[in-house]
Amino acid sequence: MAGEATAGEATGSDGTGRRRPRVPLNAAAARGRGAAGRPRGGRLVDATLCPSLLPAAAAQWAKICSSESANKVRGCDSQGCGGYNYPRGGRKHKGVDVVCRDGAEVFAPFTGRVVKQAKPYGNGNAIDNGVQLAGSGFCIKMFYIKPVKYSGSIKKGEKIGVLLPLQKVYRGIISHVHIQNCDLTDPTPYL
Ligand SMILES: [Zn+2]
Repeated sequence: MAGEATAGEATGSDGTGRRRPRVPLNAAAARGRGAAGRPRGGRLVDATLCPSLLPAAAAQWAKICSSESANKVRGCDSQGCGGYNYPRGGRKHKGVDVVCRDGAEVFAPFTGRVVKQAKPYGNGNAIDNGVQLAGSGFCIKMFYIKPVKYSGSIKKGEKIGVLLPLQKVYRGIISHVHIQNCDLTDPTPYL
């Protein structure tokens, strides 16, 4: 979009006698002439109106764990690395691990609701629990927590559970909440 606007302005400033073939360029050129002397202003307006730029301005998630001063991605330890797309056996880690101590309180990253229980393994081990949350334009699963509830509304920053004992299952791991988007895209930018 910004590229089109730039082309239109250039055509409008020197374009006497030449027909511009594409309708969108005519419209952009008309705006460019209206803002004569300040072509960059027109470009800025076009950029703010471009819908593809809006998601970058989405609200950040709240702090997720009471034991940390801010959301921090788990680095690498004896069990692997906590970042998005790191190897997990033959697959890739399609979530992000947020550092949190066993037993610490876990908070809702955004306002919305608890959709349902969501288990990472389904094997019933000590850390096999979690929830799916939706709201504020997000849909995520959070694993390794004992939730306070499996339905109902939640407010950003409200306690939704406590971290399960990861050290009992993966000794020496950097304990964490695993968070993944329901569509498995990268949640890191929201942390
Ligand atoms: Zn994970």
